[in-house]
Amino acid sequence: MTKPVLHFINNQFLASIDEGVFDTLNPSNNAVITQVASGTSPDVDRAVKAARAAFDEGPWPKMTPDERRKVLRRIGDLIIKHADAIAEAEIADTGIPASQIKKGAIPRAADNFYFFADYAVSLTGELYQAPNSFMNYSLHRPVGVAGLITPWNTPFMLETWKVAPCLASGNTCVLKPAEWSPLSAQKLAEIILEADLPPGVFNIVNGFGEMAGAPLVAHPEVQLISFTGETTTGMDIIRNGAATLKRYSMELGGKSPNIIFPDADLDRALDGTIFQIFSLNGERCTAGSRLILHESIHDQFVERLAELVKRIRVGDPVDAATEVGPLIHPDHWNRVRGYMDVAREERATILVGGDRPSDLPNGNFFAPTLITNVRNEMRIAQEEIFGPVLVVIPFKDEAEALRLANDVKYGLAAYLWTNDLTRAHRVAQKIESGMVWVNSHNVRDLRTPFGGSKFSGIGREGGHFSFEFYTEVSTIHVALGQHHIPKMGA
Ligand code: NAD
Repeated sequence: MTKPVLHFINNQFLASIDEGVFDTLNPSNNAVITQVASGTSPDVDRAVKAARAAFDEGPWPKMTPDERRKVLRRIGDLIIKHADAIAEAEIADTGIPASQIKKGAIPRAADNFYFFADYAVSLTGELYQAPNSFMNYSLHRPVGVAGLITPWNTPFMLETWKVAPCLASGNTCVLKPAEWSPLSAQKLAEIILEADLPPGVFNIVNGFGEMAGAPLVAHPEVQLISFTGETTTGMDIIRNGAATLKRYSMELGGKSPNIIFPDADLDRALDGTIFQIFSLNGERCTAGSRLILHESIHDQFVERLAELVKRIRVGDPVDAATEVGPLIHPDHWNRVRGYMDVAREERATILVGGDRPSDLPNGNFFAPTLITNVRNEMRIAQEEIFGPVLVVIPFKDEAEALRLANDVKYGLAAYLWTNDLTRAHRVAQKIESGMVWVNSHNVRDLRTPFGGSKFSGIGREGGHFSFEFYTEVSTIHVALGQHHIPKMGA
């Protein structure tokens, strides 16, 4: 059996103070992979104190960005070196297919360290000249201790997306990985130990949201919370952190539109549509889960889509040929399956899939699913299913496409396929979402702002946006001469 997963505090692997543990399961068969230390408030307190001491007394915040860069680039190199072991843990824990972990998530995790380490070196403040009277300038300082709370879909990639800019800015942190996918964070801790990061700079407390996440959010010595997860959890976190006035970055849920106009390159649109909903087992915040399809191409496009969706290879995520693996957990399988009953009640048509594939009786496998006869007001078109389920909604003209795209509480991503240049920009600029991809699936450039509008989030990370979140800006006003100072009590 895989060795137990422990907390990582002050560069030491530790059990919970109350010795509590829980099981982490392999979604392909729901067998126990190993036991995980179940953190509670005293564990969180121990980790925050370590992070606080490392921030107040340790070398990390005082190092130059270039000194920190060397350590963080070493972490990137070690991720590449240990890529196979990380991939093995991540695939076993999440069920995401090997090809998508090995070619996508893990190289991207190393890039997160390289990119943010380098970016921090070029971070500059601003100078505001007021000739002969003042010189005002701003500079970036690390903020303090960050609480980083992550979900179970692509955990390693998302953890590094937060840890790298947080540490590059000179902060220290406590990471709370998702309880359904704790294995790969343990690998990150091993790598960080090997990279010689000073003790207390990076800490992990494992455990459940209410037991380990909530005390981290409420802790008075934590200044920042970067959270990725469900919108309702984000709301709880903001409430819970109010008494200690936290700064938040909130990357939340989505129900993103994928609009296809008839003049698009339909072959590319077909491939993009399929990848954008069925990759990562459909457990993707930026999934293009609502296909908004022009009525003139609807039947023919749906026919081609259905043929391909039926042929998607569902199976063992370890197998290099697998395209869709099992859902993360039986509870999540039941939730996704529950939406099939909703679809039937709403009188939509489940054209493909809708249940467990007949050849995969064990584990949390769910067939890639295509649902037609959908109206935008249906729950299946409004709620985040977070599984391999695509709903198709027809539209007549550009105005209707926009109305449908925007008529949802979320606003994370959108996809738009057209070869009409002016329409592409016109529509893209009117879609209410943090990110729009035109004639593309989700290709992310680390310099660009990432985040959602409406119920999909608060704030942006990526490029300089990450540093705006992870640094405090101080403005220094220096008098250059004898400016007038009003006299009082003279
Ligand atoms: P979740 O909200 O259930 O859990 C996320 C994390 O929050 C976990 O670590 C969990 O333990 C913790 N948590 C739960 N309750 C908490 C509390 N009261 N206080 C502090 N922490 C708490 O989300 P999930 O099911 O793990 O992930 C799926 C969700 O994440 C989807 O909604 C998806 O869209 C979203 N997501 C968003 C992005 C993005 O960038 N916008 C990326 C990936 C996933």
